[in-house]
Amino acid sequence: GALLAQMLVEPVGIILRWYDELQVAQVSLARLVGVRDIEPESGDGSVRPDGRDVRADEVRFGYREGVDVLHRVSMDVPPGTRVALVGPSGAGKSTLGRLLAGIYAPRTGRVTLGGAELSRMPAERVREHVALVNQEHHVFVGTLRDNLLLARAGAEDAELWAALGAVGADGWARALDDGLDTEVGSGGLALTPAQAQQVALARLVLADPHTLVLDEATSLLDPRAARHLERSLARVLDGRTVVAIAHRLHTAHDADVIAVVEEGRISELGSHTDLVAAGGAYAALWRSWHG
Ligand code: ADP
Ligand code: MG
Repeated sequence: GALLAQMLVEPVGIILRWYDELQVAQVSLARLVGVRDIEPESGDGSVRPDGRDVRADEVRFGYREGVDVLHRVSMDVPPGTRVALVGPSGAGKSTLGRLLAGIYAPRTGRVTLGGAELSRMPAERVREHVALVNQEHHVFVGTLRDNLLLARAGAEDAELWAALGAVGADGWARALDDGLDTEVGSGGLALTPAQAQQVALARLVLADPHTLVLDEATSLLDPRAARHLERSLARVLDGRTVVAIAHRLHTAHDADVIAVVEEGRISELGSHTDLVAAGGAYAALWRSWHG
C-alpha cells in the first residue's frame, strides 16, 4: 500500500513515528480496566461458542458512514496463541482489537469465537470469554470491594484477596485501614496509577476470560512501577490467548504470530523469524532498530 511505498521512500519518517510509540511505551503498561466495555445489547441466548478459537473473516468496519477503517481483514487466533499487532499509528490496530473483543460488530464479514459470531451473542456471554484490556477507562466508583465485584458479582472476600494477591496488590491493599471497604471512587483514596492498574488486573483475574486483547496505550508510570506491573501482567496472561497491540518490539518478537497492520489491512503475517526473512516492512523496522 501507499504506506509501504512511503516507508521505502521515507524510511526515517516512518521509523520515527514507530519509535515515538515504542519509546513512550517503555514506561507504560496497559492501564487495565476494560472488562466491562461491551455495550449491553440483547443478543441471541442460543448462540454459544463451541471452542476457543477467535477468527476474523473478511471483516470490514468503519466509524463513519462511507469511511472504512478495516478492509476485509481476516485472521485466525488459535487457543493459547500470542498474537502481536504492529504498525503505524492510525493503521487500525486498536479498531481490530475492539472487533476481536466483540465491542463493535463488523459492517460485513464476521468475528467468531468457537464458530459463533460475537456480535450475535449476548454481551454478558462475550465477556465471560474475551476481555479488552486498555488504559481508556479508569473510572472507579465506591469501595475497593465494589470495584472488584464488578468483574464477578457475588465473589467472596477470600476470592477478592486472592485476586489482589495474584497481581501483587495485596501488600498495599492489606495496609489500608478499611481494607476492601476503602472508598476508592471520586473523593475516596487516590490510587496511584500503578495501584489503579493492579485493581484493573485483579478484576481480570476475577472475570477469568480465556482470551485477552491488550491495547497498551501510553501512561505515565515510572519505570519501576512499570516493571512491577509487567510482572503482574505476565501472571495474568499465563495460559490465555492474547492478542497484544504491541508498542514495544520485544512484545512482537516474543509473539507466536505478528500481524503487521497498515492502512486497515494485514500486510504481513508470520513469526518474527518468518517476517525478518521475508524482508518487508517488519524486517525494515527490525533492522533499523537493531542497527
Ligand atoms: P491504531 O490503533 O493502529 O493507531 P486506530 O484503530 O486507533 O489505529 O485508528 C484507525 C482509524 O480509525 C484512524 O483513522 C482513527 O482516527 C480512526 N478511529 C479510531 N477510533 C475511532 C473512534 N472511536 N471514532 C472515530 N474514529 C476512530
Ligand atoms: Mg491504537
